[in-house]
Amino acid sequence: MKLRPIKWFMEVGQDPILAQAQAVQMRRQVPLLYGLLLINSTALAWSHADNAPILLTVAVPAFLLGITAVRLIHWVRIRNDPTPEPQEARRQLRVISLAAAGFGVGYLAWSLSLAQYGGPFEQAHTALYVSTTVIGCIFCLIHVPQAAILGAAGVLPAYFLALLGQDQHAVFAPIALNVLLVVLVLLRVLCNTFENFSTEVAAREKLAEQHEEMVRLNAENHALAHTDSLTQLGNRRRFLADITAVTGNPANVGVTTIGVIDLDRFKPVNDTFGHSIGDELLNRIAERLRQVAGPSATLYRLGGDEFGVILHASPEEAAEIAERLCQAVAMPIFVGNRELSVGASLGLAHFMDEGTACRALWEHADHALYHAKRHRRGTAVTFTDDLEDVVRGEQLLEVELKAIDVDKDLQVHVQPIVDYASGGIVGGEVLVRWTSPQLGSVSPERFIAIAERSTIIHRITLSVVERALQLLAQLPDHYSLSVNVSACDLNAPETISAILSAVRRSRSDPGRLWIEVTETAVMRDLDAAIEALNMLRGAGLKIALDDFGTGYSSLSNLHRLPLDRVKIDRSFANDLGNSYSSSISRAVIGLCETLELSCVAEGVETAEQAALLREMGCTLLQGYFIAKPLPIAQFLALDAAAEHTAEYKAA
Ligand code: C2E
Ligand code: CA
Ligand code: CA
Repeated sequence: MKLRPIKWFMEVGQDPILAQAQAVQMRRQVPLLYGLLLINSTALAWSHADNAPILLTVAVPAFLLGITAVRLIHWVRIRNDPTPEPQEARRQLRVISLAAAGFGVGYLAWSLSLAQYGGPFEQAHTALYVSTTVIGCIFCLIHVPQAAILGAAGVLPAYFLALLGQDQHAVFAPIALNVLLVVLVLLRVLCNTFENFSTEVAAREKLAEQHEEMVRLNAENHALAHTDSLTQLGNRRRFLADITAVTGNPANVGVTTIGVIDLDRFKPVNDTFGHSIGDELLNRIAERLRQVAGPSATLYRLGGDEFGVILHASPEEAAEIAERLCQAVAMPIFVGNRELSVGASLGLAHFMDEGTACRALWEHADHALYHAKRHRRGTAVTFTDDLEDVVRGEQLLEVELKAIDVDKDLQVHVQPIVDYASGGIVGGEVLVRWTSPQLGSVSPERFIAIAERSTIIHRITLSVVERALQLLAQLPDHYSLSVNVSACDLNAPETISAILSAVRRSRSDPGRLWIEVTETAVMRDLDAAIEALNMLRGAGLKIALDDFGTGYSSLSNLHRLPLDRVKIDRSFANDLGNSYSSSISRAVIGLCETLELSCVAEGVETAEQAALLREMGCTLLQGYFIAKPLPIAQFLALDAAAEHTAEYKAA
């Protein structure tokens, strides 16, 4: 440490952190210093009691010791106070520095006055008193070097000169030199020690700052990791953490409900208008949910078009809020100058039993949502025991389904498609059938939906495709067959390539195999679907859009898809008496003509329906009126059944 005296003394307590650390240390040592001063000085006064005037042995020491005692009491009192503010710490340091000089001069003047009295022993005591007291005080002031140096400076020069000037006993001169040397060395050691102390304080401070910064960053990361960046709502991770907290606290039983929300018709908006509009829409929906949810609700975005909510309310209130959330989302939303309309289905699970685990509660809400999406779109469905039975049934089905040998345990039926223009069967649709030894005959709609939740669907699709290809080999060349392909197949490139290699292996004309996809499946991920359909079509396969009219894609979307055929959903054929159904059917048939797509009417059940459709220009028909889906052997035999053919020809 460089000694630039004035500046250095002025700097005492300037570094706020250091000043505080010094003040804390001072409190522990200054009382010792004053105590030392009191004891040493009392001893000196006492040893001179017999040979010095009462002024020097009683009056002056009483005055000095009085002030010292007052300071001692003050320091003892503040010993346990909280760390002083930097300002206060600085003040204390300055006071102690000045006090050190003041006390030094005061006590030295007194002790030197005493030195004139008594014999060599008393004088030796005085010399000893000054030197030991100075050394003791320097030690006590180790954390305030300015005070130590000021104190020493107030004492040493006069002391040194006084001892040197002692001509009665030559021994005092070497003692003086000796003490001076020791004190100088001590002061040097003290400065070194103080330098280490201040470095350590700075390092500690830096460490504390780094720690604070780390804590802040951690908190920030934690918040980021739990926040959805688009809507600023909590994300899936936070939802899971919060449900875990809910289920972990029995006080939440009966007063907490969790909900999962899935938007209806969001995907086509995103696909049609682009992701930025989709994002904006999600933001607006999040905003709307926030407005409607009220203070008892915490909202989350779980990903894509899925939201979550935790409601701290009674089951009845929670159900009401949930219904309001669905209604709020269903109101038209204007993004830019576009009016967009989506809906929300919501699954609710009340936390009614302490034993319900977090995952189970979420699963219950998911099941209720699943039920809402399938049966009560746009509404809130609450998980109940009955629903649980349905869900259990589905789970049982899933277990059974996972255990089957797809090629052996599933059968296929074929439903003929006839062409009124040529007057005969032109092929059929291959439909999968499952009769489980445990559950009996299970409708494909049920088990396909379950298969779609796992990878089983890919095996089913491939198996049906392979059987269709085998069947094609046994059928006349002008027959074609169609197979149904799920949304998940369209998103699975390996399934698409497996279909293509099966077609190549079979050596059938790929143009005889139709791939049926529903518009809902296509719209789920339009880009992926178009890519998959292009691959299939590129290999020569034909593409049919199934169940047309039930989904949400508009007629104008048709030209965006690589299509060869549209199948009008069976609900239209069944309802041709209704002017809406008949005009939609007519429009679709007309559009297919314009776009040069073939058009099949499904679900034709009566001769009237067949006649009407024919009159509208649709000659390709499929439905119970022609034939139900038939086992393969019956389908193969059908062409031979002349009366049957005659029956539909006559219609
Ligand atoms: P889909 O593709 O629309 O198949 C036509 C459904 O309509 C068949 O039901 C058929 O039996 C039924 N149907 C045919 N004609 C009539 C009629 O005149 N009136 C009435 N009311 N219904 C008629 P199915 O076989 O129960 O299949 C139901 C759905 O299951 C299919 O609807 C399809 O979405 C799915 N599915 C069937 N087989 C497969 C398959 O191999 N793979 C996939 N992914 N889905 C399949
Ligand atoms: Ca179909
Ligand atoms: Ca269909």
